[in-house]
Amino acid sequence: MKRAVYPGTFDPMTLGHLDIIQRASEMFDILIVAVLNNNQKKPLFSVDERVKILKKATEHIPNVEVDSFSGLLCDYATKNDLHVAVRGLRAVTDFEYELQLAQTNRVLSGGKLDTIFLSTSLEYSYLSSSGVKEIAYFGGDISKTVPDYVADMLHEKYGKKER
Ligand code: ADP
Repeated sequence: MKRAVYPGTFDPMTLGHLDIIQRASEMFDILIVAVLNNNQKKPLFSVDERVKILKKATEHIPNVEVDSFSGLLCDYATKNDLHVAVRGLRAVTDFEYELQLAQTNRVLSGGKLDTIFLSTSLEYSYLSSSGVKEIAYFGGDISKTVPDYVADMLHEKYGKKER
């Protein structure tokens, strides 16, 4: 069985993340989407909310599982016998950070955890969770960036008022 983990903060999941999940799920028998519980990043959505969003968005993809973890990805991967991490690349600006992360994970796991990169679909290349939050904060249109229920949750968190 080929299994892979797609780790991320997913605060919140966007259509860009969902596109990577869909495509990666076609390459592996099981894809585990793992939500990082990292309070240092001060997420807007709780881990429970982020997990719920991902579960709802992937309920039509049978080989996708959603989990959460704290601490280092390499420790989570070792514990769950996972050897491939999937990450998305939007632009050259992602590359340096992602390369460093991939190399760090490889070293920390003693060579047991490799990373593969999927390039973003062009229509989502501008999308980031922080960008979506900023647009929502100022009451802008986020209907093409996240599923409707995520847009509703964002509007609820920020209120709909003009700023
Ligand atoms: P991080 O895990 O770095 O805190 P995210 O949770 O936003 O950030 O992203 C998880 C992964 O998904 C990263 O590899 C990121 O590059 C990728 N990603 C984020 N947005 C997109 C997008 N629009 N298209 C493709 N990949 C994306």
